[in-house]
Amino acid sequence: MTQNNPILTDDFGRKHNYLRISLIEKCNLRCTYCMPAEGIALSPKKDLMTADEVFAIAQTFVQHGVNKIRLTGGEPLLRKDFPEIIEKLAQLETEISITTNGILIDRHLDVLKQFNVKKINLSLDTLVPSKFNTITLRNQFEKVIDNLHLLLNNDFKVKVNVVLIKGFNDNEIIDFIKLTEYLPVSIRFIEFMPFAGNQWDRSKMVSQTEILNQVSVHFSESNLEKLQDEKNFTAREFKIKNYLGSFGIISSITNPFCDGCNRIRLTANGKIKNCLFSNSETDLLTPYRNGEKLENIIAAAIRNKKKVRAGMTTPEAVDNPLLNQDNRSMIAIGG
Ligand code: SF4
Repeated sequence: MTQNNPILTDDFGRKHNYLRISLIEKCNLRCTYCMPAEGIALSPKKDLMTADEVFAIAQTFVQHGVNKIRLTGGEPLLRKDFPEIIEKLAQLETEISITTNGILIDRHLDVLKQFNVKKINLSLDTLVPSKFNTITLRNQFEKVIDNLHLLLNNDFKVKVNVVLIKGFNDNEIIDFIKLTEYLPVSIRFIEFMPFAGNQWDRSKMVSQTEILNQVSVHFSESNLEKLQDEKNFTAREFKIKNYLGSFGIISSITNPFCDGCNRIRLTANGKIKNCLFSNSETDLLTPYRNGEKLENIIAAAIRNKKKVRAGMTTPEAVDNPLLNQDNRSMIAIGG
């Protein structure tokens, strides 16, 4: 029986029932806002969680109240033992979902169906093949689009993650929303965020206001509906009247949503990050391998959580590279 235990409740009363597990530090794309141009120093294989360790550590979290697990990376489907990991996690009393770049979806469709992993976030930042190659440094646009349709044709619940970068894809906002006229997808426009080595600059961000201005001009105010935001939301949800799908705006820099944060992150080398922007991490894997109980270690990490963005409460703090670069690269966090 799952206990709703205080070890996952922080000093601001936020209950953390959502665990994001990064399964791997590698990816088959090189998205410039995620993977530094020079790459990253990979953890030695011996320091990465095995499938059994992913299961055991996740089980501890589920026993104390986690009921939502999202598998991320790098690219989680690149793990050769991905089917084994899904099979193990499926024994737990939790919803399982994944965030993927979509390239390998066709190879894993059956195992995802078999273990009822129906919620898929697919990263796709442009609808223009040449721009896809520019931002991912790979030529896989068609494969991703084909697999997007494969997921929809197999009744998966798909959200399309679009990292908006001014001057690169902010001129495609309307095109992405037009997809929702006939596709039951939720397009999520994600504000460009600072992580180690991603050349972030506030001037490259596209704010919620800018997005909604474009939408109002093109679709008119009267056709824009505000939807109920999910509990513990990250995206503020909207839809165009009579369209099949919807779109959401995730603006953690200009419009943070930390009050309702219920997320904890576990890195591929078994460290807890109590916030996406936190540079302090707590090792769970070593104590686990030493046969130690994890509850007190987890509780301490959660109690250490800051109210907003790991303490970067002001725009000046966010803009300060001494702070915003003192973190992992996105590829080693998993979003
Ligand atoms: S910035 Fe940190 S505290 Fe805020 S919502 Fe994201 S993970 Fe939670």
